[in-house]
Amino acid sequence: MNIAFIGLGQMGVPMARNLLRAGHALRIFDVVRAPVEALAAEGAVAAGSASAAAQGCELAFTMLPSSPQVREVYLSAGGLIAALGPEIALVDCSTIDPLTAREVAAAALARGIALADAPVSGGTAGAQAATLTFMVGATAALFERIKPVLAQMGRNVIHCGESGTGQTAKICNNLLLAISMIGVCEAMSLGSALGIDAKVLSDIINTSSGRCWSSDTYNPVPGIMPNVPAAREYQGGFATRLMLKDLGLATEAARRAGQGVMLGAVAQQLYQLAQQQGLGDLDFSAIFNLYRPR
Ligand code: NAD
Repeated sequence: MNIAFIGLGQMGVPMARNLLRAGHALRIFDVVRAPVEALAAEGAVAAGSASAAAQGCELAFTMLPSSPQVREVYLSAGGLIAALGPEIALVDCSTIDPLTAREVAAAALARGIALADAPVSGGTAGAQAATLTFMVGATAALFERIKPVLAQMGRNVIHCGESGTGQTAKICNNLLLAISMIGVCEAMSLGSALGIDAKVLSDIINTSSGRCWSSDTYNPVPGIMPNVPAAREYQGGFATRLMLKDLGLATEAARRAGQGVMLGAVAQQLYQLAQQQGLGDLDFSAIFNLYRPR
């Protein structure tokens, strides 16, 4: 299949690479040259703009930082929706706010183009191993059309409902993840302050009722696990600035819905503090540094 992939960052590069490996003809674009050149060396065709990448393709994916970039790529004068016709299906895998997702999908539909929101969970490791979870907001027909290709980048492909529901699922999941990561940091640093060995405590938590993904798969404490950001000074992974963005999406959606997210609001402040202290580009598990003795 002819597929375009736009947005080649921490997640986009390994996702696009899996599509190349699955045998698709891939056309790519990013505003940064380095990842474009790396994937071009592996067989993808570099284009000069998002619209140029998507011309002639049956499917186009975007994996962009947040709502402003999604608006620009889809809704600007030379953007995807203005440049393309109904023969292509569009899939936005970025995490953005559900209202923007619905607005962009409606603008696409007005030109006869089907657009799905399909944000992911599973991190950069899941993107590399093609084990991502896709949360898809789309019509049933569009979901069936894109599912086989999503399955080449992920293990779980879930139809959440109509447009925007994929984003709703994603921001609720990340609200919980943000809070649980802070909980693990707090428990692990209290344990250390009280004198228990960190590895012993983490083994106990991971076979006890405090266990969660942040403790048993993505532990934030250096020295507990190999192959997690904490083992490489929090390089790579899911940036603190992106988690802060997701908490902004969740608290804003909660405000609009008149729903309380009290722990989410506290978590948002803590990630804000982490960003202020220079941790914004490090993985979000670097929030452990707020609890470390200086
Ligand atoms: P990233 O910042 O590493 O990558 C985003 C890419 O988009 C960059 O390469 C950037 O140059 C490119 N870009 C920005 N504006 C563009 C434009 N106008 N046209 C073309 N390219 C443009 O981000 P990431 O970590 O890959 O995350 C992407 C999305 O996936 C975010 O919404 C994030 O919240 C979500 N997400 C990330 C992770 C993770 O672990 N990193 C996990 C799940 C979901």
